[in-house]
Amino acid sequence: MTKMISIVIPCYNESESVPYFYKEMEKIRQTMSYEFEYIFVDDHSTDTTREVLRELQAGDPAVHFIFFSKNFGKEAGMLAGLREASGDFVTVMDADLQDPPTLIPKMMDILEEGVYDCVGTRRSDRSGEDGIRSFFSALFYKLENKISDTKMVDGARDFRMMTRQVLDSVLSLTEYNRFSKGLFEWVGYDTYYLEYENVEREHGNTSWSFWNLLSYSIEGVINFSAFPLRIASFFGFFTFVIAILASAFIVINTLYNGIETPGWASMTCILLFLGGIQLFAIGVLGEYISKIFLETKNRPHYIIKEKK
Ligand code: UDP
Ligand code: MG
Repeated sequence: MTKMISIVIPCYNESESVPYFYKEMEKIRQTMSYEFEYIFVDDHSTDTTREVLRELQAGDPAVHFIFFSKNFGKEAGMLAGLREASGDFVTVMDADLQDPPTLIPKMMDILEEGVYDCVGTRRSDRSGEDGIRSFFSALFYKLENKISDTKMVDGARDFRMMTRQVLDSVLSLTEYNRFSKGLFEWVGYDTYYLEYENVEREHGNTSWSFWNLLSYSIEGVINFSAFPLRIASFFGFFTFVIAILASAFIVINTLYNGIETPGWASMTCILLFLGGIQLFAIGVLGEYISKIFLETKNRPHYIIKEKK
């Protein structure tokens, strides 16, 4: 029996890219002795992506689609697609051809050797990306790898080919706050990283703003109710900084101008400092509690409006 490869493609406003993507993939499909299954997940696009997908689906029984009832984000799209995938091997790809389909035969060769369970991809450079973005992503990976046991690979993309076993392990993690790069590392197994040069998006625009990415880095998904708690940590940190500055001022002022009221300066320093630290600590607690809050709601990751 021929083995099947499932390809999960999260799409948000990709009406221009989808036809090109499909064409390129079909070229690869012809050269391989595997059955293919496409699962396009439309993340409630505001353009004609859904119509484009309907047309593709009508013309090829290997094409399936899932339409979300609203925009749930790429993580939710990936999860929905992965849950639907029925192949022996599964991969996630962007619709914009930034994940080169030509890597698929290579990935399959590596997996078929039986040594590795997963083939990931990482960019060997960040050409075409602006400096600030590169700087912050590098910073994120440095920080993350310092403070967490789950080591993430800098420049790793979501584009990875995995065996059914790895997929089932990833799907067994049901948390609400999903950060796939971390989840894939967390499940373990042996991953081989293929390097390739960064490819720039040809059609359509990236739907990620700098702030989207920042928020994604912090917690994996946009968190709509942690805002007030965030403010607490912000004010805490702010007070803390002010306290340090004020302390320095008071000390220097005392040294130069002498003491007016004995004990006043040192008391103020201590009060400010402790107050700031406390607010900051409460803010950090708040971050974690907000995560627990979202997890305990047990909301679905996404809502499907239509499926074929
Ligand atoms: N995407 C999605 N939902 C969103 C945003 C993006 O499904 O809310 C999809 C998008 O269509 C694309 C992939 O996620 O296939 C990666 O997005 P993009 O190319 O904009 O990001 P970049 O490659 O710049 O990181
Ligand atoms: Mg892209």
